Amino acid sequence: MNADELQAFEDEIYAFVGQEVYPPTPAPDDVNMPMIRQWAEIMGDTNPAYLDADWAANSSRGRTIAPPAMMYAWGQEGFQVTKGRSPNAQSNLVALFNKHGYTGVLGTNVKQEYFKEVSPGDNVTIQMVIDNISERKTTSRGTGYFFETLSTFTDQHGDVIGTQRFKVLKFIPQEQPAAAASADGGLEVPTRIASVRGPDNGWWWDAVDEGKVLIQRCKSCQTLRHPPRPMCGECQSMEWDSIESTLKGEVLSYTCVRYPHVPGYPKDPICAVIKLAEGTNLVANVVGCEYEDVSIGMQVTGKVEQVDEKTTLPQFYPA
Ligand SMILES: [Zn+2]
Repeated sequence: MNADELQAFEDEIYAFVGQEVYPPTPAPDDVNMPMIRQWAEIMGDTNPAYLDADWAANSSRGRTIAPPAMMYAWGQEGFQVTKGRSPNAQSNLVALFNKHGYTGVLGTNVKQEYFKEVSPGDNVTIQMVIDNISERKTTSRGTGYFFETLSTFTDQHGDVIGTQRFKVLKFIPQEQPAAAASADGGLEVPTRIASVRGPDNGWWWDAVDEGKVLIQRCKSCQTLRHPPRPMCGECQSMEWDSIESTLKGEVLSYTCVRYPHVPGYPKDPICAVIKLAEGTNLVANVVGCEYEDVSIGMQVTGKVEQVDEKTTLPQFYPA
């Protein structure tokens, strides 16, 4: 892209600033106890202000409220979104970035602010606009632009109950600095993101580096568990050892991660939950076959393999 083309491209993207993604849309359901109850259960949030009517009646509010962080939940679309949405300013902006090679996408921040509480019976209206687009920036992931959507949530009186800012980086994957010349003048090839190794799981990854997949076993009741954690869920014993998996198993569930394409990862990787013959589950890639050939219940055999210069992982092949 020469300077004139870049200018034309930037004129086009910056024209999106201020455009509406969703016009003010009332949530399909009023704020209600069943959704609050399910949300609080999933989040493990036991604040009595949300569910305990007797407690709330005696509180300064005099009634239960919805968890402020649920704000975004009220207007969520249902499963019809899997069939696609009609184009809007955000999807048009993303398509414009993609067309010019900015195909990488990374959600970088979400910031919510809360101004007013809502209670069962209130109705939340959601509006989203493209609030700002940064200047062209070079980041560790590649060169691109940050764009931020601003969602504003209002109640039935028109009062703003909160806002949410969501920032996304759209970038050109192959231009990331990791692909730039290394010290010896050669090209450094991007690798997968390194596993996070802490006191509870470092031993498991260290074994993978040595070509073994271990399964943690409770010393007290012999129950196997994965992923690694300090305490047995059955008997609460903190004493454990491990056994080595035979890496025979079957596909319990699987998907293909087609988008976004992340530098350092194969294109369209098949990610699966493998039920190991020993009984525990393991998330790993299925390789050596096409996505169309994978099925639930398919028998697989694992191998611990070096998948790039810095990464060793168990991968599963059709048995
Ligand atoms: Zn146990």
